[in-house]
Amino acid sequence: TRTSVVTGSASGIGATTARLLAERGERVIGIDLRNADVEADLSVPEGRADAAARAIELAGGTIDAVIACAGISAPIPKTISVNYFGVTELLTALLPALAASDAPRAAVVSSMASLQPNSAEMVEAALAGDEAGALRIAAELAEQGPEAGYLVYPSSKRALARWVRRESITPAWAGAGIPLNAVAPGTVITPMTADLLKTPEGAAMVDAAVPMPLNYHQPPESVANLLIWLTSVENSHLAGQVVYDDGGADATLRGDDI
Ligand code: NAD
Repeated sequence: TRTSVVTGSASGIGATTARLLAERGERVIGIDLRNADVEADLSVPEGRADAAARAIELAGGTIDAVIACAGISAPIPKTISVNYFGVTELLTALLPALAASDAPRAAVVSSMASLQPNSAEMVEAALAGDEAGALRIAAELAEQGPEAGYLVYPSSKRALARWVRRESITPAWAGAGIPLNAVAPGTVITPMTADLLKTPEGAAMVDAAVPMPLNYHQPPESVANLLIWLTSVENSHLAGQVVYDDGGADATLRGDDI
């Protein structure tokens, strides 16, 4: 049996991924703020280091797959810390345990929102590993009001997608035989979107930004099953990709522009 570490395991896409893996008889070590095997706060460096150390200990030193789902969508500075640094620092800290596996794999959850308007400055600060700088830019945007604040989430997901592309082909990942990829969901029916989708006005706003001609809003299983395949033994050569699993939103919005 494989051992997978799943972040955000207490809710939504992460909880569904953990459940589907467990149903297949695989071992799951969940990380979340609460209701998880490892309760830790991925918004801060100590929480990330603590989560990695405890997950490696529970796994007995070898981790076969890491699936990073934990994230928040609020227009606040913390969003860049959880969605970017909470993923990249955790994955980096788990690398030695992944390298001990016969078939190590990793996948993260970006978003089709990474294609939406974002702050290039914040994306660059994140990719440079400058969390204080990225937080400062996010705070400035949040202070300018909701419209500017809403740039924080797409920026966090754009930075994460670029990190995956850059890192996936390095000696640490490709060189160590570890496929690293991202998925980019459309609008997924989870607690994150529940309030927005409750009213016709909220749903119309979401649908204007994220058009989904194929099967409309998606269940968390649609993303979880892809994450599970990307981190399975079967995936030997798919690396550095952002897989848009979004009901056709990316194809609608970007068209030929790829
Ligand atoms: P969710 O709110 O149901 O689950 C997110 C989980 O992350 C929660 O259990 C939460 O406790 C955990 N988390 C948040 N902050 C944390 C922290 N500091 N430390 C540890 N855990 C923390 O949301 P979801 O819809 O399942 O989202 C999962 C991922 O998918 C997120 O990264 C989100 O940005 C992304 N995503 C969601 C949608 C959507 O429409 N729901 C679309 C695209 C991308």
